[in-house]
Amino acid sequence: MTDPEVESLQDLLDQIAACRVCGDALPLGPRPVLQLSSTARILVASQAPGTWVHESGVPFADASGDRLRAWMGVTKDEFYDAGRIAIVPLGLCYPGRGAGGDAPPRPECAPLWRNRIMAQLRGLRLTLLVGGHAQVDRLGRAPMTERVRAFRAYLPDVVPLPHPSWRSQMWMARNPWFEADVLPVLRAAVRDALA
Ligand code: SF4
Repeated sequence: MTDPEVESLQDLLDQIAACRVCGDALPLGPRPVLQLSSTARILVASQAPGTWVHESGVPFADASGDRLRAWMGVTKDEFYDAGRIAIVPLGLCYPGRGAGGDAPPRPECAPLWRNRIMAQLRGLRLTLLVGGHAQVDRLGRAPMTERVRAFRAYLPDVVPLPHPSWRSQMWMARNPWFEADVLPVLRAAVRDALA
């Protein structure tokens, strides 16, 4: 049954698609990229699209996505099943380049859309906080590595993860506990949430 206080998913998606609020600050212009349904069990709360995702319109349609899917232990079909997995970055459009990589998510975005998006996720069981920006937004400031190392403190609802960019391979080499300790628990949590 539809909750009358929750707006229609399609209305919300249409409004997001038409958003131009920070368009003047976006080097490639507005193109919100997300995956959302009211039945999703898992939320991949990420940071912001990169250029390839901006081009394709598909979240994590790049090597970072391949790494994230491997960490989660899901296939592409499972990952892109919107009925089971939602993918929502903190900033919905590509923000441009900053010092040493992509710029942070646009600050205008989450205050506009986040609560309305979260209201749609009525079957949510597990949230993956992917990257430092997503973690700071949800949990407050802390060093990313120490937060991920303390992942058990956030279970069973939340798992903090590094961003799966190419840099994560060097980070994993320096932090072998991530593969040994975090990934098995992450995969089990993902399977539980999808079951
Ligand atoms: S980043 Fe967010 S606020 Fe800015 S144009 Fe895109 S959807 Fe709108």
